[in-house]
Amino acid sequence: MQSRRGIPVSPGIAIAKAVVLDNDERTVPKRHVPPEGIAEQHERVDSAISEALEDLAGLHSQTASVLGDHLADIFAFHSGLLKDKTIVSRFHAVIDSERVTGAYAVFTVMQDLADQFLAQDNAFFRERVTDIYDLKRRLLEKLVGEQRSALAGLEQPAIVVAHDLTPSQTAALDRKLIRGLATDLGGRTSHTAILAHALGIPAVVGLHDITKRVATGDMLILDGHRGHAVIQPDAAQLLESRQEARAYREQEKALKKLRDQPAVTTDGTEITLQANIEFTEEVPEAIEFGAQGIGLYRTEFLFMDADRVPTEDQQVEAYAGAVRALGGRPLTIRTLDLGADKIAPGLADLHDEAEPNPFLGCRSIRLCLQHLELFRTQLRAILRASSEGPVRIMFPLICNIMELRQAKMILSDVREDLEDQGVAVGEVPVGMMIEVPSAALQAAKLAKEVDFFSVGTNDLIQYTVAVDRSNERIASLYSGAHPAVLELIKGVVRAANHAGIAVSLCGEMAGDPEFTMLLLGMGLRTFSITPPAIPGIKRVVRSVGIERCKRVARKAGSFDNDREVLNYLRDELNRITPGAVTGRSMNY
Ligand code: PEP
Ligand code: MG
Repeated sequence: MQSRRGIPVSPGIAIAKAVVLDNDERTVPKRHVPPEGIAEQHERVDSAISEALEDLAGLHSQTASVLGDHLADIFAFHSGLLKDKTIVSRFHAVIDSERVTGAYAVFTVMQDLADQFLAQDNAFFRERVTDIYDLKRRLLEKLVGEQRSALAGLEQPAIVVAHDLTPSQTAALDRKLIRGLATDLGGRTSHTAILAHALGIPAVVGLHDITKRVATGDMLILDGHRGHAVIQPDAAQLLESRQEARAYREQEKALKKLRDQPAVTTDGTEITLQANIEFTEEVPEAIEFGAQGIGLYRTEFLFMDADRVPTEDQQVEAYAGAVRALGGRPLTIRTLDLGADKIAPGLADLHDEAEPNPFLGCRSIRLCLQHLELFRTQLRAILRASSEGPVRIMFPLICNIMELRQAKMILSDVREDLEDQGVAVGEVPVGMMIEVPSAALQAAKLAKEVDFFSVGTNDLIQYTVAVDRSNERIASLYSGAHPAVLELIKGVVRAANHAGIAVSLCGEMAGDPEFTMLLLGMGLRTFSITPPAIPGIKRVVRSVGIERCKRVARKAGSFDNDREVLNYLRDELNRITPGAVTGRSMNY
């Protein structure tokens, strides 16, 4: 029995066998070959290498003519590896000594090579690992054809163990069979973590080397509250975890009963709890959890989930579908927030893969303002959907007032076009996310130009404390309790109240009960939350009065570091809801 510690990002306790995905999600089964078949395996490996070398020569000259010799050298490096006699002879040696297929020999030798590169202190070697994976993929394509996913054909419940998962891979997980998610990489508010939470799949990220310690078929316990993974647990540990899992499920069931209870504080202040979604299909479940509307529809997932860019009509279908499913509850549609870690295959030419710093690069509203056709099509679709029910539109990552004005101008233009064409359009309040310190600090001015603000703390934290939200190595520095972050939120709420516009908070902080009293005390009355976290927040709301929350906010504001703030908030929460499993002892 071994245990690893990571970052808990989605609550719940999973107990199941592991399925380990390698980096490119390819698995090659270890197939034995009879002695008379060995020669053929050698030939297959040799011809895969020749074909790969031909491809690489083509790629080299093509790249050299378009991008220059410097970039083409990447392929020279790949060819060099394939011509390296020691590597090639290792393929053959594995076929002979283990009597396995050429594909399996290539798979293991290349993986070993990648591990050796990863273990180097020298950054140059570590960075070459992606080249090794690329080469491995190329050879395996020749040997076994199309990629096979370890998850395809899964029949038993499993915990997925991966180095990292993209948001689209996470979104595609089969919820019936995937009981948990454990990854080497990832931070608290990486989009993969957010999706796992939305899907209700217990998840622990940032486990560093879990993929090296676990083999497919190993029994695993994954504790999405504490951030533990226990590998090959003993009987006593299994029994204890099963009991805990049962207790957690009971608590979840009890919390769900709050669904029809109002979100009202003990002194009668009404709080609005809405949901964050990525897909229209999530609406019914959000309502099940008690959502009073959708405060954040992350529309980019429609684009990330498809090979092609959704047409205007397809978008109308998705947005209007959500409006209808909400039956009169409000829907806040955020315009495309692509870029950084959210890449749409159908828009590959818009994403610059070589962008050196994608989180600070051409993402989100910036990308839309540079690709007006894409933006206008989405705006048309949102406006068309607004004829079916209450819709609000929200622009992401606004970092200066000119961007906001430009986005609004395009929106008015699109609206005029539609009206000229006689297309029905509803009243659509226009708002913006506050996700960067420049917007937070300019909130008073921005508030004069929008109908509402939604504070996106996931990004606001990352840009305030300069900590990549998906990097587990610096995760302890990523903290919503940082006094600077709290100051910014307080300022935004004050500016919104002063201007008389609505303000809500839709970052993951909104779904962490430890922050609820503080945020209420700062004056927030609307939250948009990952659906499964809604009942837990409602319980806190119903257990406390606003005066107490104001005291909590004042006191929290007196500390000079996030640790003290968090300890204090934890104690306060324990006082009003003693013994509750809060889901996560997190630090947004
Ligand atoms: C945020 O940044 O807080 C937010 C809600 O947006 P996203 O998580 O999609 O970046
Ligand atoms: Mg954001």
